[in-house]
Amino acid sequence: MRLVILGLPGSGKGTQGIRISEDFGIPQISTGDILRQAVKEGTELGRKAGRYMEQGQLVPDDLMVELVVQRLAKEDCRAGFILDGFPRTIHQAETLDALLKEKDMVLDAVLKLQVSDEAVIRRLSHRRLCSRCGADYNLLTKPPKEEGICDHCSGGLYQREDDREETIAQRLQVYHRQTKPLEAYYRDSGALSIFDAEKDVEEVSANIKGVLKSLSTTQLAQGPTSSG
Ligand code: AMP
Repeated sequence: MRLVILGLPGSGKGTQGIRISEDFGIPQISTGDILRQAVKEGTELGRKAGRYMEQGQLVPDDLMVELVVQRLAKEDCRAGFILDGFPRTIHQAETLDALLKEKDMVLDAVLKLQVSDEAVIRRLSHRRLCSRCGADYNLLTKPPKEEGICDHCSGGLYQREDDREETIAQRLQVYHRQTKPLEAYYRDSGALSIFDAEKDVEEVSANIKGVLKSLSTTQLAQGPTSSG
């Protein structure tokens, strides 16, 4: 199964992506995570991408396309993948389509997680992450038991540089200007499913699972296809 998750920063793409990955045994590919790792390691990609990320701007398409092409060529993507945070521009979406077409493949579904700007600001400004295991917390709705300490591994919690209020506003603007047009792009291709992501995580997860289950049942019933 080949999936894209679309949605504002903080709409729950990462959380839902991990759950789908566990349920369906396909890798979740977060371009944001790959870039943050590259920045941490000080690689050439990290140095080039870091300055855009700090400002809440998109990293240029050519860098992103190269990164995704390399990642999708890996063995673990043969049975499918979940792209979280890519594509983010029409050019990236068209490049992904062309890449899949070359291999006689298509996207099976594009999952749009719908949340308001207000919910995003509330979520991201209170988001904290564990520096050791990556677990995520929200100081309002899912606080750690002990302030600043991860419940799972006792690692220290931190706030992402781009989760500060000024940068959140910038990221929202960038989404509306550059990424939102993808919704119409995928609606036209018939792949788009929209989920109310202001609901409880479990409920959103169950709704997504329902749609994906019926999709995989339909694919099985239809027998092997180029998209399977
Ligand atoms: P995320 O963790 O998905 O919110 O991504 C964090 C940051 O990484 C974004 O604000 C962008 O600067 C950069 N980034 C991640 N994915 C992409 C992409 N597909 N295109 C351009 N920039 C990206």
